[in-house]
Amino acid sequence: MAEHESLEFGKADFVLLDNVSLEEFMANLKLRFEKGRIYTYIGEVVVSVNPYRAMNIYGRDTIEQYKGRELYERPPHLFAIADAAYKAMKRRNKDTCIVISGESGAGKTEASKYIMQYIAAITNPGQRAEVERVKNMLLKSNCVLEAFGNAKTNRNDNSSRFGKYMDINFDFKGDPIGGHINNYLLEKSRVIFQQEGERSFHSFYQVCVSVYVCVTRQTDATISWYPDQMGRGSSSIDDGGDFKAVADAMKVIGFTADELQTVYKVLATILHLGNLTFGVDGDTTLIENSKVVAVIGDLLATKEENVEKALLYRTVATGRDVIDKQHTAQEASYGRDALAKAMYERMFCWIVGRINDVIEVKNYDNVLQHRTFSVNLSFCINYCNEKLQQLFIQLVLRQEQEEYQREGIPWKHIDFFNNQIIVDLVELQHKGIFSVLDEACMNVGKVTDKVFLQGLNSKLANHAHYTSRKLSPTDKSLEFDRDFRVRHYAGNVVYSVVGFIDKNKDTLFQDFKRLLYNSSNPVLKVMWPEGKLKITEVTKRPLTAATLFKNSMIALVENLACKEPYYVRCIKPNDVKSPLLFEHERCRHQVEYLGLLENVRVRRAGFANRQEYPRFLQRYKMISEFTWPNHDLPSEKEAVKKLLQGCGFEQDVAYGKTKVFIRTPRTLFCLEEQRTEMV
Ligand code: ADP
Repeated sequence: MAEHESLEFGKADFVLLDNVSLEEFMANLKLRFEKGRIYTYIGEVVVSVNPYRAMNIYGRDTIEQYKGRELYERPPHLFAIADAAYKAMKRRNKDTCIVISGESGAGKTEASKYIMQYIAAITNPGQRAEVERVKNMLLKSNCVLEAFGNAKTNRNDNSSRFGKYMDINFDFKGDPIGGHINNYLLEKSRVIFQQEGERSFHSFYQVCVSVYVCVTRQTDATISWYPDQMGRGSSSIDDGGDFKAVADAMKVIGFTADELQTVYKVLATILHLGNLTFGVDGDTTLIENSKVVAVIGDLLATKEENVEKALLYRTVATGRDVIDKQHTAQEASYGRDALAKAMYERMFCWIVGRINDVIEVKNYDNVLQHRTFSVNLSFCINYCNEKLQQLFIQLVLRQEQEEYQREGIPWKHIDFFNNQIIVDLVELQHKGIFSVLDEACMNVGKVTDKVFLQGLNSKLANHAHYTSRKLSPTDKSLEFDRDFRVRHYAGNVVYSVVGFIDKNKDTLFQDFKRLLYNSSNPVLKVMWPEGKLKITEVTKRPLTAATLFKNSMIALVENLACKEPYYVRCIKPNDVKSPLLFEHERCRHQVEYLGLLENVRVRRAGFANRQEYPRFLQRYKMISEFTWPNHDLPSEKEAVKKLLQGCGFEQDVAYGKTKVFIRTPRTLFCLEEQRTEMV
């Protein structure tokens, strides 16, 4: 507690700020970062700033300091949150979740590792080997997921290009016994295109360094696959070393030699697809470099002519007849790109599935859950953040309200911005942006992004959080027929409609699915089960990407909503990985984006602290003559009342059935001060 009072390190809890303003918040965050205090509370939420240096605060001795302690008894730390979540689960038999949010590179993965490390350290020694095994499996999976799901972007050499949500399951004794990983929204467009200075997924470079020579020898191909990749090596990334580490990790997880080979073959196929070009000869569409087709046929364990046919024709059913319709060169190129993206995505999901086979708990009896979540594509990410913010609002407020009711303390309404209106703007049936998008995609004939924008303009003309140039003609920051703007809770974002329709339809010709399913490589076949359907059997239109994503977000949030949540909000202080640099604007943006100031306000409006009577008494009884060394009052509640009256804190507290509620943290700190003087 000593640190709580020391102003030298700033305020350990933002609730203690003299004035809740952005300036004060930022000043405190900066001061603490500079003093090496990377964690600060907002009540029970941990705000963490990436230190970009090794910190001596995760050792065995620190773990001992936090074990079984209450949050406010020790300086802010992830361990305190981990302990609180673990205790709630074990003592009160509650499902808990730890939601770790923040942008790429802010420290989410590191935080989840420290949390796991803490949990492993405090669980039963007899179970430790098993805990270690589960932890190692999860860490090994992380290495594999990073190879296939991460890429170098201009901002981060190892940026996650997918959303990830991870469960750790515990048995009734509180020991971790397994886990489960959900993946969302892999940025598959990266397979065929990257911005200047960026790379495709690490896996391509890793496999190239190792097998590139043998692959190219077969074809004499000039190096011109999707990413002009060989020119994009990165000094900070050791692709060759990583290749080996990933292969080893995959073996440890349990991937067979055949499975590994198939993964490399899929990667090689995608690279070769990038070399394919189409031309025309009269009415016929042709593949200009047909040697590549032979190589792809080999890699996919299927006949060369099957590959060629799938690339150049589309089988369509007209009534009872089935005919082969030739693609134009443009359609064939589109199909090739869609195939490359889909093969990669499908493989990624399959890898996640295989990892889950190994780490999942088969018997869910008595399994309590502890969850970590991190999610990364502009519109969807922002929608996801709105959902998480909504969850946060509901849970924080609901939790407070429920506790006050339980304890018989009158509930005071807390005024704050409720972002449900923005969530509705995106996901509402018939009227939301996703619905308008799906409707536009459903139209037969030529649907353009412009038509989609017109749909938005007519449906959302009166929505307070939506606008476009048509609706705000004087707003020069919006381009006609291209942009719309959403006022998110964290600020305004302008979206261009270009590509919305195409990305949402996300069509992969059925012919490709059948091609892959009919491969004689059993591993590949498993990845493409729907290829089993004959052309006449395919009737259902696949769900659009928007609907799939919306459904998975709704399911995720529903799932989280019935857990007891703990939050870690991670902030990235600079883009150059410096342990010294606190870029003010960058940090301010994140603070706003994460809604941290609002969080402080909500927290301050209620009671900052609550403790059960016996525990409170045990800690502070020495500061009052009525309670030291013993009290003769009829109950511990009465004793606490007497103690607080004696100290003059009566105005700042409320008495519940089992707990005393303290409104301002200052009172708590005064109590602590008096206690320190006595002991
Ligand atoms: P995210 O998962 O949010 O994308 P990471 O957890 O991978 O970010 O963190 C990025 C890098 O920042 C790490 O590789 C590590 O070098 C550094 N880092 C993050 N958190 C810490 C920490 N608590 N202590 C030391 N370094 C850290």
